[in-house]
Amino acid sequence: MELTIDFMKTRWEEFNKKYFEGCMTMPAFEISHAKHALGRYSWKWINGKRVETICLSDYYICQEYDYCNTLLHEMVHQYIRLKDLCPPNIQHGYHFQKIAKRINRDGWKIQRCNSRVGFTPRVQKDTYHMCAFKMANGRYFMFRYHPDHEAHFRRLVLRYSEAIWFTSTDAKKYDSYCQCRKAIRGQYINILTYRTLK
Ligand SMILES: [Zn+2]
Repeated sequence: MELTIDFMKTRWEEFNKKYFEGCMTMPAFEISHAKHALGRYSWKWINGKRVETICLSDYYICQEYDYCNTLLHEMVHQYIRLKDLCPPNIQHGYHFQKIAKRINRDGWKIQRCNSRVGFTPRVQKDTYHMCAFKMANGRYFMFRYHPDHEAHFRRLVLRYSEAIWFTSTDAKKYDSYCQCRKAIRGQYINILTYRTLK
């Protein structure tokens, strides 16, 4: 689902009435692309007024239910602050868990931490376009190329033997290779590595 400010506002209003006696004031809403925090509630004093913000991240692909859980999590923080139930440094203590438990009876899954386990990043992974071949000296060599220039590299590699062309999204293996556009620049690989590519 695509996360929007309107969605956050609508659900916030609904949840405020349903679970918090409608006692809270609507905060400002923000959408971030944060990887490490699915949601965040924050506030600051501006001219003697508490200005609150709830921010949700759209970094991961989430269903409506997941966004609602995160929103509810942040609303529990907002409620605790409003009622001044505990010092700000206690984030997920007794009061948090008590309120979360009450709301969860309605089918929600508010957790102490907004777990990211099982979510897939929305951003597509990089695809590495790779080529390995045998050089005249008998050693194996591998390089990464820009896909726009594939035809050019196919011509260059013609003079070598045993060329293997492949793509991968394995950043661990291939991120150290620079993406060649003109000249071939890469690394020697041993024959065992070469064979695993076949
Ligand atoms: Zn929290």
